[in-house]
Amino acid sequence: MTCIVARLPDGGTAIVCGPRGRKLPPRCATCFALATHQCDAQVGTKDTGVAVMKVTCDRWMCAGHRIPKGPGRDVCFIHAAVFEDSPPETPRQAAENDAAIIDAVLGRRRE
Ligand SMILES: [Zn+2]
Ligand SMILES: [Zn+2]
Repeated sequence: MTCIVARLPDGGTAIVCGPRGRKLPPRCATCFALATHQCDAQVGTKDTGVAVMKVTCDRWMCAGHRIPKGPGRDVCFIHAAVFEDSPPETPRQAAENDAAIIDAVLGRRRE
């Protein structure tokens, strides 16, 4: 779940939270620029009862923060190093990692 601060036309602000803004354009998870790509790294699987689906990181990235890993494959900086060889995380681990990553990104800006 991510939250963003949206600026309203009257000068006020509103905090919008959600798994991914439905009406708002996606923003880069690192710098909050408009995002153009999502991380394709697999972080687990989900059994829907019909099929076992891949769960991917789906972190939004701008053109400057995406890391290309071949045609149609882009990963975030978190997964760039581990994309090829690490075992998939469970969705729960991924959610916990996301929380830690968001803290790290918000608390430690790029120098
Ligand atoms: Zn960015
Ligand atoms: Zn990722």
